[in-house]
Amino acid sequence: MLIVQKYGGSSVATAERILHVARRIAARIESGETLVAVVSAMGDTTDDLLKLAFTVTDDPQPRELDMLISTGEQVSCALLAMALQSLGYPAISLTGQQAGIYTRAQHQAGRIQSVKADRVRAELAAGRVPVIAGFQGITEDMEIVTLGRGASDLTGIVLAIALQADRYENCKDVTGVYTADPRIVPEARQLRDLTYEEMLELASQGSQVMHNRAVELASVYDLPILVTSSFVDAAGTLIHGEHELEERNKVRAIAHDRDVAKVTVRQVPDRPGIAANIFEPLAEAGVSVDTIVQNASEADMTDMTFTLGQGDLKRAEALMPGICAMVGAAGWSSDPGMAKVSIVGVGIQTAHGYAARMFRALFDAGINIELITTSEIRLTCIIEAGRLEDAIRALHAAFQLEQAEAGA
Ligand code: ASP
Ligand code: MG
Repeated sequence: MLIVQKYGGSSVATAERILHVARRIAARIESGETLVAVVSAMGDTTDDLLKLAFTVTDDPQPRELDMLISTGEQVSCALLAMALQSLGYPAISLTGQQAGIYTRAQHQAGRIQSVKADRVRAELAAGRVPVIAGFQGITEDMEIVTLGRGASDLTGIVLAIALQADRYENCKDVTGVYTADPRIVPEARQLRDLTYEEMLELASQGSQVMHNRAVELASVYDLPILVTSSFVDAAGTLIHGEHELEERNKVRAIAHDRDVAKVTVRQVPDRPGIAANIFEPLAEAGVSVDTIVQNASEADMTDMTFTLGQGDLKRAEALMPGICAMVGAAGWSSDPGMAKVSIVGVGIQTAHGYAARMFRALFDAGINIELITTSEIRLTCIIEAGRLEDAIRALHAAFQLEQAEAGA
């Protein structure tokens, strides 16, 4: 078995934890597996380096930022290689470039173009454990680029695909994926498995388990992912392409997102082109709009509401007076304090009664639903942020997610 493991920042936060990780890798090698390790930067290193940059200048050059923040992973991969060597296991640390991760340039948002894994293969053939710096790659012009926050998963997944690994393991400070955040719902239960689609929806709805593009890629190549603990021995949650067709409970988990703001444009004349006129200036300003709801029009007037991340609200607000003037809207309002709560599971949309049950549970808890959106495998309600935790608990109970699934 060839396994690519990724250790996140908290799993390598201290020298002691790095030694612990080395011992875990050693034990797996002893059991006959071949391992490749990818590491994130130690603890909050990436944040600390970014802060440091902004103490030097308000406007650091993106290229220099990448030179700076890519060092975090270089520190942790060297230390983990040393730790393995100290236990008597040959290991070698490699930067993104040395591992053959080629990317297109956009600093802090590099896209992987190709992986030339010859060096990694050669190290494996020589009996060494390759320990690779996550989150970074190199362009054709030999510029270092980072792949976006949390993107060590992306490094790990592309390497696993290139090496045709049997499995990718995301080793974290939690033991797997839960039916809801256990800090909010004490009865939350760890899931045995999830489909790629379910994981993607959970991630895009606010669960910070794994990098979205990494899950997407794994799904294209049908690479199984195990989300598991780097601290304790635990079964973990397997993310793969299969699911039980007749699962009793189609709701698998509840995702939430506290980073939601809302803007409403009131009384817009309902004619072709208004949506384009409202959303083009926002897109040009780099505001990414999430949910959009247009009400049925009355007397040829309609209201349009959209949500966005709180960090984008100021920029959107600055544009709203101009947009309203252009489309002839009566006015606009905004609310920074919204939240999203979603139920996720394959088959939700086609199964009977799930939406009604969700709305009833929220109503019974006295929670007002402001907007509703759906996908094939998700139902999302946008509510006031202050009621979010109550909503998650109410839904977890209403869908009986604390009960073990069949076969679990
Ligand atoms: N160290 C990088 C970050 O904090 C990458 C990662 O952790 O995956 O975003
Ligand atoms: Mg990190």
